[in-house]
Amino acid sequence: MSDLAKNQSLASKYLERFKQNTTGHYIGGEWTIGMQGKTFDNSSPIDNHYMGKIAEGDSADIDAACLAAAKAFPAWRDMPGAARKKILHKFADEIEKRAEEIALVESSDCGQPLRFMRQAAVRGAANFRFFADKAPEARDGQTLLQPEHTNITLRTPIGPVGVITPWNTPFMLATWKIAPALASGCTVVHKPAEFSPLSAAILAEAAEAAGLPAGVWNMVNGMGEEAGKSLTEHPAIKAVAFVGETTTGSKIMVQAAPTLKRVHFELGGKNPVIVFDDADFERALDAVVFMIYSLNGQRCTSSSRLLIQSGIRDKFMSALENRVRKLRVGHPLDPDTEVGPLIHSSHLDKVMSYMDAAREQGATITVGGERITDLGDGNYFQPTLFSDATSNMRIAQEEIFGPVLTALTFEDEAEAIAIANNTDYGLAAYIWTNDHARAMRLSQAVDAGMLWINSENNRNLPSPFGGTKMSGIGRDGGDYSFEFYMETRNVCMAHGTHKIPVLGK
Ligand code: NAD
Repeated sequence: MSDLAKNQSLASKYLERFKQNTTGHYIGGEWTIGMQGKTFDNSSPIDNHYMGKIAEGDSADIDAACLAAAKAFPAWRDMPGAARKKILHKFADEIEKRAEEIALVESSDCGQPLRFMRQAAVRGAANFRFFADKAPEARDGQTLLQPEHTNITLRTPIGPVGVITPWNTPFMLATWKIAPALASGCTVVHKPAEFSPLSAAILAEAAEAAGLPAGVWNMVNGMGEEAGKSLTEHPAIKAVAFVGETTTGSKIMVQAAPTLKRVHFELGGKNPVIVFDDADFERALDAVVFMIYSLNGQRCTSSSRLLIQSGIRDKFMSALENRVRKLRVGHPLDPDTEVGPLIHSSHLDKVMSYMDAAREQGATITVGGERITDLGDGNYFQPTLFSDATSNMRIAQEEIFGPVLTALTFEDEAEAIAIANNTDYGLAAYIWTNDHARAMRLSQAVDAGMLWINSENNRNLPSPFGGTKMSGIGRDGGDYSFEFYMETRNVCMAHGTHKIPVLGK
């Protein structure tokens, strides 16, 4: 039996129950298919076949989940950090126990190749362990002495929070938001993406098995416009942590305004990778290919704009073309597959529409540009490389969110900076040069929340993660996450020596 056949057979074993039973919501420690019993169909990106029914939550289900989170909040908030730490480590144990299942279900549900999704559970568990260890100290603030007063700052969890996640790496992203929220003492209502709902159900089961008290974490499936919207409007919810498209972020800001919620947005990107003539050619080439064609290009930090210096342009482009042509597109459960099917047929249409945009505006489709039909009915698309592009073209401005790279040429440092910054987005940037002084100048001049020098995206949980401009508001990672999920309170104590102004005596 081939490795693909083995993985398919294992995956179908794990997926069978989702096909047979409606995947419900997890509210107040109970599984439910919702007040109205409304459902929507989940389909596979691999062949667009039916994968099962998902409960479609509405405002009444969201209300029940928010009230459960509000009810559970005081006890969870008041539980000593060390006790929360223990439970969250158990949560991580449960995730690790189900690593194979999570990888196979996630890969089948969202089309991301198994070679990348193998890490989903490991990374998800690591998110829980990292923030679990920080839970006991999360409340500690600073001591700020004055001659006649002592100030101490305390942090308290903000309250029940809403977490709304996208479909591109659903499991990892959900844990990345939920782990710090729970560690800080908040309770959570999670609304997973409707295109990839399955791994969120496994996460809820892991929470249950870990003994997370009822109501501390609730999960409601459904559409963004209904379930998501109601969550952002609910008065019991004090903050919304959202990962998704920039336009959705704007809507959420409006929806959350009447209840004055704190918002944290991780949004889209059109991230530049800038390769100077003096860069390590082979390492830069590997990283350029990896950072746009891994995870099907459906990655917020993907380097979707290549800025290549004129001195090495021809040599680099010809090596790059070669590599893009050789990328292995295939079934996501095949261990050899490097690029899998896109999440949904509607997303495939969106990605394909950029082929016309490229042609209309005068760019060249150097590699790819076509839908792949000989792999069946799935949403397969050829890895694509655009050249002869200029910085104002739509393919250099808009987030395509597929395995599609737009190459642009620059002459010098000033032009590289100008092109890099000519975008509404500011999530990530990658700089390849062996001139360290230049790297330092660019790290200040290129407007992005995260810059990597001579590296692809490198995950480090304590480092701040997030974007500038239309790529987001706020940072995740380490203490930055606690800043979002907690209120800082200042307590000022007099030493009994200072003079109090006297009035009316
Ligand atoms: P999306 O904005 O369409 O959906 C994200 C989530 O928001 C889904 O759960 C959806 O149901 C919900 N939603 C939709 N409308 C809503 C509304 N009015 N109110 C409340 N919730 C609503 O995004 P997507 O297509 O699922 O994901 C792709 C996007 O996510 C890309 O733009 C990508 O760059 C971005 N992303 C960003 C990061 C980051 O860290 N910056 C990480 C991953 C993905």
